[in-house]
Order: sequence, then C-alpha cells, then structure tokens
Amino acid sequence: MSTQPSSNNRRLVLFPLPLQGHINPMLQLANILHTKGFKITIIHTQFNPPPNQSNYPQFTFISISDGFSISNKDSTLNLDTSNYAINFMNKSCIHPFKGCLASLLEEEPVACLISDSLWHFTQSVADALNLPRIVLRTSSMSCMLVYATLPLVGEKGYFKTTIQELPLMTKKDILKIYSGGFEEGKLELISSMIKEAKAASGIIYNTFKELEEPAFLAISQDFCIPSFPIGPFHKYFPASSSSLLEQDRSSISWLDLQPVNSVVYVSFGSIAQIDEAEFANMASGLASSKQRFLWVVRPGSVLGSKWLESLPKGFIDEVGERGCIVKWAPQQEVLAHQAIGGFWTHCGWNSTLESICEGVPMICSPCSYDQPINAKYVTDVWRIGVMVEKGMEIGRAIKRVIVEKEGDEMRQRCKSLQKKVNLSLEKDGSATQALENLVEYILSF
Ligand code: UDP
Repeated sequence: MSTQPSSNNRRLVLFPLPLQGHINPMLQLANILHTKGFKITIIHTQFNPPPNQSNYPQFTFISISDGFSISNKDSTLNLDTSNYAINFMNKSCIHPFKGCLASLLEEEPVACLISDSLWHFTQSVADALNLPRIVLRTSSMSCMLVYATLPLVGEKGYFKTTIQELPLMTKKDILKIYSGGFEEGKLELISSMIKEAKAASGIIYNTFKELEEPAFLAISQDFCIPSFPIGPFHKYFPASSSSLLEQDRSSISWLDLQPVNSVVYVSFGSIAQIDEAEFANMASGLASSKQRFLWVVRPGSVLGSKWLESLPKGFIDEVGERGCIVKWAPQQEVLAHQAIGGFWTHCGWNSTLESICEGVPMICSPCSYDQPINAKYVTDVWRIGVMVEKGMEIGRAIKRVIVEKEGDEMRQRCKSLQKKVNLSLEKDGSATQALENLVEYILSF
C-alpha cells in the first residue's frame, strides 16, 4: 500500500456519528486520507466527542451543539437509546452543522464533506451549500443491500411469506434486524439513510471487494454512484486509540500466559445490552465449556446491574485462573494475540472485520441492526463461525470452535480470508486501487 503524501493540500470536512463503532472507522479514514495529502477538519457533536484529540495534532476538531448532551450526560447508550439519539440528533444538529460548515466554506474552499451514512440530514445541508457529500458506511456492503430492500419488507408484508429479494435471510433474521419494533423509528432511520446515501456523490465502505464480491456488483447496479471498498481501515496503521472507554491492558499480560489458540474472547461491543438471565446463561456456558476465556463486561451492559453483581454464585471460584474479566479491552490487540482461539461476538461490523483480519473464527450471538446479517455471512457464506441459536448449549458451541476439528477448519478458512485482506492492501490490491480511485474522484470535484 502506498502512503506517500501527495501535495494536493485540499481540505476535507468529516462528520462522525458519536458512537464507538462509528468514531473508530471515521478517525481511521481521516488518517488514511491525511496520508494522501488532504487537510482534515472534523466536526463533531458535544455528545461523545472523539477522545484523545491531542493524539491527532494534524486534524482540526470543531464541536457543535447537538441538543442531546444537555439532557443526557450519560455516554453509555444501548440499542434503543442509540436509535432515539440518532433520530433526535438528525434534527437537532441541522442548524448548528449548517452554520459551522458555512463558516468553514467562507474561510477556505472544501473539496467535499464526508459524513456517516446515518447522518442523513447532511445531504440536504451539503446540497444547500453546493458541496459534494460522500457517505461513509461503517458496515458491510451486504448489509447495505439488505437495508435497501427492507422498506419493501414492510410494504409487501414479507413478514408473512418468503423473502424473495433476500435469498439468504430468513424471516427470523429479518425480525431480528427489527427487534425493538418499527415504532421506535428504526425503519424511518434506515429508509432515510438509504435515500440520502443514494443522493450522495459516492459511498466509502470499510470492507474489501474480495470479501463481498456479489454484493459489490449488486450495489454498483442498484446505487447509481461510485462505491469505494477501501477497508479494512484499521489495517493501514498500527492500532491507535479512539476508545471512549479506558482499555484494560492487564488482559494482554493475562493472554501472554495462555497457550496458543486456547482462549475464547467474549465481547458484545459498545452498545448491546443483555438482561440478567442472559448474563447468567453466558456465565454458565463459559463455565461448562471448561475453556479459557477473556470476557469484556462493559459497565452498564447488563440491565439492572452496575457490573458483575449478577454473576452466578461461585462462578469466579469455579473458573479460577482460566477466566479473566475486564471492563473494556484493547480489542484489535487481543484478537491478534496468539492465545486467542475464537471470538464470541455480537457481530458488530468492526468486530467481525477485526476478527477476519486476524484469522479468528467466531461464535455468533447477534442482537439487532446489521448484526444478524453479518452473523449470517460469517456462518453460512464464509463458514468461519457458528451461530448461537436460542436455547442452544453455549458451552458446546465454544468447544466446537476452540477444541474440535470443525473449529480448526473454520480457522483455516478464516486464515485464507486474512491472506486475501493482506493482498487487497498491497500495491496492486483491490483496496489500494479503490483508495487511489477515491482520491482521484475527490480531486475531480
Ligand atoms: N472494542 C474495544 N474494546 C472492547 C470492545 C470493543 O476496543 O473491549 C472496539 C472494537 O475493537 C470495535 C468497536 O469497539 O472497533 C465496536 O464496534 P462494533 O462495530 O463491533 O460494535 P458496536 O459497538 O458498534 O455494536
């Protein structure tokens, strides 16, 4: 991959969505484009501002009011409140964002705006200011295709019949995407995201073409704008921290003491929440698996508990030295550690991609949004993981991946995807080429 800075010196304005799984890829993208010679300004909300801004002296950060942070001091969102927060801020940010962008344009020309796809309001602001907008989609291309078909699901009542436009997805998968219901504004959010992405000048994806070739071809037909699969972004640079929570590095020293491929890493990302019964079920699955585990229990992720209060009695003594529980981990480093044999994940896109990049097979417990789609690809298309179905014995699923031959085969398939990732980032690789095309495209504005 070439990271030679060119001297184009044009300014880009980036606007990340203030959630962990969206801040990380946007800052990584900012770094990538900076190495291509662009000057970077990042507009961000007061709510969940990008952390460690002093680590990025090369960027200009500008904060705008969002109306949300005033009434919500707590930065921990769950699936429902994040949905509400995004819908809320898509309205409350219109004026502050437009004002901020207009004054930037008075100071200096801007090549284009790059905003998260879920900031759908920014398309009309960019149109009004005559500025091209490129969308950053932080999930997979396959998910974008499924989302583009979802309004049909509601209209045609496909909940009752088979889903012809979505051959891979069963009715159960679709219902999972909608878990929480239509009434909470999910359909509105997804429909607006798709509509305004189609109205943009292009879409950047944190994925690579070889992983999703059929989706890439379908997207190129369905969306009449160029797509740039230039990911995985985190592979361009050594892990840099844009973590909203403090990463506990004791997890790495604990991993250093464990045998190769022996540990299951457990994390459900930054917003998923589970109830106490599910938490207890996870604990008993980890205990009955008899395998070593590193478990991220994010404070507030268990409904009704501050942290570990609802662990079954005797659990800590039972698992002893073979378990390590932390509040938040340096995940990319964890997944790259030789001791990791599997990843029990909610299948957020960043987690899925980070696991593929390290050749780690997955145990999938998707919750909502794109996670059921990602999980379906992991288990049925790439065949690098097992799905945890309701009522399934979790200890058994863990053993299938960590101990059994089946797990080894998944690991081999995942390692061959890892090789494809690395090839895509080489000089003539597809991601590098897509990045060159993106730079050229932006410079043509
Ligand atoms: N993450 C982390 N430490 C943890 C758990 C997660 O740094 O203990 C990071 C992870 O590497 C990923 C992001 O948080 O980049 C989670 O994004 P993802 O899309 O997987 O899930 P989301 O949080 O959006 O549901």
